[in-house]
Amino acid sequence: MTMMMAKGFRALAKGLALTAGLIAATTGGASAEGAAAKQLFGGIKLPSRAAPTPYGFYSKGCIAGAVAIPVDGPTWQAMRLSRNRRWGHPQMISLLERLSRDAPGVGWPGILIGDVSQPRGGPMLTGHASHQIGLDADIWLTPMPDRRLSAKEREDMPFTSMLKENKFLTVDTKRWTPAHAKLIMLAASYPEVERIFVNPAIKKKLCDTWTGDRSALGKVRPIYGHDAHFHIRMGCPDGAAGCKSQAAVGAGDGCDKSLAWWFTDEPWAKPKKDPNAKPPKPPRPMQLSDMPKACAVVLQAPSPDSEMAATFGGATAVSALAATPANPNDAVPAITAQMPELPDVVPIPLPRPAGY
Ligand SMILES: [Zn+2]
Repeated sequence: MTMMMAKGFRALAKGLALTAGLIAATTGGASAEGAAAKQLFGGIKLPSRAAPTPYGFYSKGCIAGAVAIPVDGPTWQAMRLSRNRRWGHPQMISLLERLSRDAPGVGWPGILIGDVSQPRGGPMLTGHASHQIGLDADIWLTPMPDRRLSAKEREDMPFTSMLKENKFLTVDTKRWTPAHAKLIMLAASYPEVERIFVNPAIKKKLCDTWTGDRSALGKVRPIYGHDAHFHIRMGCPDGAAGCKSQAAVGAGDGCDKSLAWWFTDEPWAKPKKDPNAKPPKPPRPMQLSDMPKACAVVLQAPSPDSEMAATFGGATAVSALAATPANPNDAVPAITAQMPELPDVVPIPLPRPAGY
């Protein structure tokens, strides 16, 4: 390690302590040592000013240099703005804009965008085990209305499930349309998309009815929930050495035993309880020290000057794609690019949501 870097790291460590103090002041006295990582990442309003870089895995990591998708575009509207989860890798934001532009071509007027990531990624105070490295995004299964929704409507508009209420794992054909299928298959067709998560009933509907090219159908994976939105997961961008890839999906369309399993009792059975067993300790929330080391640097790095300065180029997305956020600070990318020891991270399975 050079003197320059050692000095840099000392300065960063000091900065981290300061950040922790600031966060402690706003989170009722929690320190960086004792605080759950979700409190540290959940309290930050702006991304780090750095070259866009994901660190770690979808369910255990963070992102430097994230950009926000604009609240509105010609063919998209971002929802639940108060959550401040419009942030992602520029390639993710570019992909969302592309999907929105291509959607009208398959009969879907535009997309309503749910959660992407927090400004610096990381675990969230509520919801989601993944969405931590700026490469996951949720799209509503409700088409964009033909008017701009107010901020309040974007908070309050209810999710519409595609499932029949009183029937086991059955798509409600009053709500589900061929355009829903086409939108999901359009998203799956992009080579940079590695997985799409949908409810098992939706996967089955696609298996039973999709008559187009089925080569991307295997990317569409059944999972709990995901009945009012679908989830797009991109692969690690080229050259992102600290980004932990997920194993590729198997060959085939996935309309097989692995799907049939979801229609058995097993995935829905309550775990058997031993009446004599002690109640299990609640799992320890993820700590900063459990995360890739680079995430401590990301957490305390300086911000761009404003949200606008880090908002993706909207209609001019193509030219914005090559650029890092405005006013990049040269020192920060230099330091984050040299984080040498990124520990292996292990994927955490999505938790089983209650009520399914
Ligand atoms: Zn999601």
